[in-house]
Amino acid sequence: MKLDDNIVYLKGVGPARAKALQSELGLTTLGDLLDYLPFRHIDQSTTSTIGALTADSGPVLLRGTVTAMQVTPTGKMRERLTADFSDGTGKMQLAWFAGTRWVRDKLKSGTEYIIFGQPTLYGGQWQISHPEFEVAGADSDQRHPFIPVYNTSEKLKQHGLGARAIARITDSLLAALEPLPENLPAEIVKKYHLASHDTACRHIHYPPTAAALQAARTRLKFEELFFLQLDHQYTHYQRSLNARGHVFSKVGDMFNTFYRECLPFSLTGAQKRVIREIREDTRTGRQMNRLIQGDVGSGKTLVALMAMLLAVDNGCQACLMAPTEILATQHYATFTRMLSALPLRVALLTGSTPAAQKRVIKQQLADGEVDLLIGTHALIEDDVQFRCLGLVVIDEQHRFGVEQRAKLWRKSNPQPHILVMTATPIPRTLAMTLYGDLDCSVIDELPPGRQPVRTYHRTEPRRPLVFSFLKQQIDAGRQVYFVYPLIHDNPKLNLRDLQDGLEMVQSYFPRPQYQTSMLHGGLSAAEKAFEMQRFKEGKTHIMLATTVIEVGVDVPNATVMVIENAERFGLSQLHQLRGRVGRGSGQSYCILMTSDELGSTSRERIRTMCSTTDGFAIAEADLRLRGPGDVQGLQQSGMPDLRLASLVDDEPLVRATRDEVADLLSRDPSLAMEPLLQEHIAASKNKILWGKIS
Ligand code: ADP
Ligand code: MG
Repeated sequence: MKLDDNIVYLKGVGPARAKALQSELGLTTLGDLLDYLPFRHIDQSTTSTIGALTADSGPVLLRGTVTAMQVTPTGKMRERLTADFSDGTGKMQLAWFAGTRWVRDKLKSGTEYIIFGQPTLYGGQWQISHPEFEVAGADSDQRHPFIPVYNTSEKLKQHGLGARAIARITDSLLAALEPLPENLPAEIVKKYHLASHDTACRHIHYPPTAAALQAARTRLKFEELFFLQLDHQYTHYQRSLNARGHVFSKVGDMFNTFYRECLPFSLTGAQKRVIREIREDTRTGRQMNRLIQGDVGSGKTLVALMAMLLAVDNGCQACLMAPTEILATQHYATFTRMLSALPLRVALLTGSTPAAQKRVIKQQLADGEVDLLIGTHALIEDDVQFRCLGLVVIDEQHRFGVEQRAKLWRKSNPQPHILVMTATPIPRTLAMTLYGDLDCSVIDELPPGRQPVRTYHRTEPRRPLVFSFLKQQIDAGRQVYFVYPLIHDNPKLNLRDLQDGLEMVQSYFPRPQYQTSMLHGGLSAAEKAFEMQRFKEGKTHIMLATTVIEVGVDVPNATVMVIENAERFGLSQLHQLRGRVGRGSGQSYCILMTSDELGSTSRERIRTMCSTTDGFAIAEADLRLRGPGDVQGLQQSGMPDLRLASLVDDEPLVRATRDEVADLLSRDPSLAMEPLLQEHIAASKNKILWGKIS
């Protein structure tokens, strides 16, 4: 039989079961069934015994005899069936609460059975509810040293499709299935000592040995990652052949004057390197797609600004898109300040720009009278048209959806160069998988004179000490943030948390000596800007805020951040928040306030925060603690759905497959020598490849 054949023809299936497998598990063909992997195996050589059961035994397979059966009525038309079961090492009880009549027919006292199920301790005795059972010796399982265990459902069990029955069906599947062709290039199989595709597909279900199971897993993981890489890199390659970009052939007056006369400090080595990389990309005529990763405060904005000057020097316009109005406004202020000596026209466009002004700006953009545009999502609206858009910078990339990015591409012909900046470092394995088609730059060096933020974990009893420390700092001229988590969806309740906080803070820091600002989502853009401004100018000493300050606020004199209920924040969010301090040359502090009782994951998060300020280490820890599916913002980046491989644990395989695919494509760009891989590409063409868009 072949992979495309319907499972209905498989021994032991039939129309009713096929229907159930289809509706419950989505399995239609033999190939689907082959892909339905067991979540564990039972090692038959170490068959469990009742005497050896422990509290953490998973589902077990036991061989023993039913010695007695009892039926107890439990209500109208309902009964409970229990059976005593013994295997020579101990006794246990099997129990059924439904379908008892059917079981009563099948189960015979004095007969030997193999049973399967999850044992639990019940009143000091082992019990299995609704075990699967079969007469011992009647089954062919004996010839398999390992029995696969599959997920099933109540509905499937009603069709006699418990985990054991599914195992018997896969057994007959493997017997019926003709050998599967190899799908990886032979030299790669050889180089990595991989099991063949056919062997792996069989052994992942019924391995002859533990080592064979391991080999099957490795092989299938390799395959999975290899094809993921192939999809990404092939697309990337094709695009780099086809996508023409603006040619930034020269470094001109804007860039040079800024560099020589306006820059108030010298660039860090990392900033220089990244600017060089951008320069290289943009002068070739190929369209740049570059991701800049760098911790908060590492000076990404400055790099973006200089790249934008490069665009202007080459007769183009450039825009910078920020995720929030606060941030866009702040960038606009920074840009106009730093560029005041240059003959440049910079404009700001956000959701709250008055309509009349919007119209003017749009006209000026179309006429080429604005050189640099800063804004929020507003600037990707379809009616915002540029005369010649050469470069788009996207700040804090994870806040933007993929489609929003795609819109940018249509704004210019040739397509604008794209620079994506993120302060949420993406763990290396993820970057390799997700951004196989983006060039990555890393700013791994902070501007000189910065001292790493010292982070401490404190609980409620020590609050007085924390407050007296804050007092010391404020009296020495510093400013302080208090950050509160958004706990409710309800803005009113959040405001109440803030107001409670405000009362507590003000009772310790009385007015008029100490002044306080408050920032939260319920304020209008103008009100937020007003509060920010007062704090920035030092008119207020303490800023209480919800997470609206998470991204981009820049007040170098603010050197202490207290994060309330820190256990409620995710790791990368804590890291982002902490980036708001440590922006000047003074020593900065971050104090994580939590309750006494912490779950193990929260404890691990807090511990990580206290022990490192390295954004990559934090990103890796976050990935480890939450799993890839959950990492902030990655879902919308088209997180691959991996069956076996783990981006956390399989870094060596991610690396190997990436390199092999790159090597293969460099030697054989059109895959002329690899018809099988070509086929794969053709088959996945109709799938959406997000990598194409980022
Ligand atoms: P990011 O966007 O990476 O968070 P910014 O570009 O906002 O970082 O820079 C943070 C602060 O550091 C800003 O006040 C900026 O002016 C300053 N800065 C950037 N580059 C340097 C440098 N090379 N030397 C000193 N200060 C710098
Ligand atoms: Mg920034």
